[in-house]
Amino acid sequence: MDSLLETHFKKAYKHIIESHNIYIASHVQPDGDNIGSMLSLGMALKKLNKNVYFLKSDDIPSDYLFLPNIDLIKDYSIFDEIELFIALDSSDEGRLGKNKDFLTKAKLIINIDHHVSNTNFGHINIVDKDASSTGELIYDFIKYMNISIDEDIATCLYTALSSDTGSFMYDNTSAKTHEIAAELIRVGIDKGKININLYQNKSLERTKLFIKTMDNLELYFDNKVALAKISQEMLEDCNAKMEDSEGIISYIRDIAPVEIAILLKEFNESEIKVSMRSKRYIDVAKICSVFGGGGHIRAAGCTINDTLDRARTLIIKEIKGLLGD
Ligand code: 5GP
Ligand code: MN
Repeated sequence: MDSLLETHFKKAYKHIIESHNIYIASHVQPDGDNIGSMLSLGMALKKLNKNVYFLKSDDIPSDYLFLPNIDLIKDYSIFDEIELFIALDSSDEGRLGKNKDFLTKAKLIINIDHHVSNTNFGHINIVDKDASSTGELIYDFIKYMNISIDEDIATCLYTALSSDTGSFMYDNTSAKTHEIAAELIRVGIDKGKININLYQNKSLERTKLFIKTMDNLELYFDNKVALAKISQEMLEDCNAKMEDSEGIISYIRDIAPVEIAILLKEFNESEIKVSMRSKRYIDVAKICSVFGGGGHIRAAGCTINDTLDRARTLIIKEIKGLLGD
C-alpha cells in the first residue's frame, strides 16, 4: 500500500478509535459506489462497537434497495457537536447536499474519495485518484483496521467496485480492482443476485424513457459528440423518474464514433444536470469544471442554471473550441 495513504489511514483510525458516535455521509443523487461505500464502512465500524449514523443525502434509487442494512440510511436532525464526520465519494462540500451543513458542527472531518477534482476539505484527506472507486479505498481501510469482511460488507464493496467500473470494464479497473473482487467473491457473496439487481432489473418505464431519449439523440462534429436530453415532459410521458436515466449515458458512449457522450437532465426549467463521458482522449472533468462541476477524466458532471436548449448551446460551444472544429 502507498505509504502516504497508510499515514492517512493511521491518523483516521486513531480518531475512529477515540470516537463513539460517527456520522457517515456521501453525495447527492447517490450511486452504487457511494451507497456501497457508506454501508460497508459503517458496518465495519459497528464491529468496533461504534454508534454509526448513516446520513441520507437523497432518495435511494430502487436498484440499491437490495443492499444489506440499506434501511439504516436515514435523515437525522443533529443539534450537538459531531465527534467525527466521514465524507465519502464527494469531491467538494457542496456534493454533500443538505448534509453539508453538518460539517460546521464537526470536530473532525475525514474525507475519503477518488475524484481528481477533490478539494481536500477534510482535516484528514484520504484521496487517491487512481482508485477505481471509493469502495476500493474503503476496502483498503477496512483491511488496515484489521476488521473482518463478512458477506454483507463484501456485498456492499462489490456493488461499489462494480458500479464505478461499469462492471469491471472502464479504464479505472486495475489488477488490484480484480484482486479485491476475487477476494469478495471468496467471502461468499451472491454475485449473480448483485448483478441482476444492478444490471438486469430495468423497469418498463425506464425502458420507455431509454427509447424516447435515444430516439432524439443529437450528433455533432463528425459524430464524435452525441448529446441526449431528458425533460420533465419526457419523464411524465414515460411515467418515469429522473433516476431511471441511469445507464443511458454509458450506452451513448458505446456508439462506435462517439468520443464524448452528453446527457442533459432537466430537474426544472432553470436547473439542468449534465452528465458527461469520454472514451479515449478527452478530459471531461476539465470541460465540466468550466461550468463549476468536476469528476473524473472519463466521467464528470456539472449543473447549468438555464434552460435545456441554452445548456446544450453552451456545452456544444465549449466542446467545439476543444475539438478545434
Ligand atoms: P454522473 O454523470 O454519474 O452524475 O457523475 C459522473 C461523475 O462526475 C461522478 O464521479 C460524479 O461524482 C461527478 N460529478 C457529477 N456531477 C458533478 C458536479 O456537479 N460537480 C462535481 N464536482 N462533480 C460531479
Ligand atoms: Mn465513486
